[in-house]
Amino acid sequence: YRHGEASEVVVNTPDGPVTFGEHHPLVVVAGPCSVENEEMIVETARRVKAAGARFLRGGAYKPRTSPYAFQGHGESALELLAAAREASGLGIITEVMDAADLDKIVEIADVVQVGARNMQNFSLLKKVGAQPKPVLLKRGMSATIEEWLMAAEYILAAGNQNVILCERGIRTFDRQYTRNALDISAIPVLRNLTHLPIMIDPSHGTGWAAYVPSMAMASIAAGCDSLMIEVHPNPKKALSDGPQSLTPEAFDQLMQELAVIGKAV
Ligand code: PEP
Ligand code: MN
Repeated sequence: YRHGEASEVVVNTPDGPVTFGEHHPLVVVAGPCSVENEEMIVETARRVKAAGARFLRGGAYKPRTSPYAFQGHGESALELLAAAREASGLGIITEVMDAADLDKIVEIADVVQVGARNMQNFSLLKKVGAQPKPVLLKRGMSATIEEWLMAAEYILAAGNQNVILCERGIRTFDRQYTRNALDISAIPVLRNLTHLPIMIDPSHGTGWAAYVPSMAMASIAAGCDSLMIEVHPNPKKALSDGPQSLTPEAFDQLMQELAVIGKAV
């Protein structure tokens, strides 16, 4: 079991510092799966900010199952994220897949995301641990809690103490109705085992926009510190993860409901 106090991860955003942690208001991260073009990323940033999000998420480098699926716009998408940061004041969270891209990502991102598929890419973990920006470590799709905490330990051991853990659903036997099984029990379990802040991603956790609000509520009830929600201005046209993306209107509605039930947003 954990010894000592919950740790805080303070992230500097254009709008000022935002703190992730047990004793702080819920931090909501929102945005599209992929950065598609300037108009959509800037529009999404403005809309999620107006609804109360503190961070914009969006992939420039995408870990797609098929090599023929959209892979992300890469470096040019990083520039679009920088523009959205400027336009909105939101902090930026984006994924690093390859250590070769890390320096470029660190220049524009306020938090560097390591995705589920790279949770045990130990050389990447060592490298994100040796750079100065906070790291969001997603749970591997079949990772045990122990494996996940050990992956976090790689980052901490390399010198970076600013690690946020993100549960995004695990692979079980039923993929017919949900993409993954969101492990809500990870919240109290992690609270017992680690001092690190806990984020929940009900978008990848369920795979369906219709299920996102109830799982977001459940996650708050179970005590999470932060939520990551995929939002797209036109989910039907999204280049990735459209079925699980909320419209800006649905996101706004969710934020109003969240404000009522728990930790102030
Ligand atoms: C994502 O955040 O868009 C993503 C690819 O998530 P995960 O690594 O959890 O699948
Ligand atoms: Mn996605």
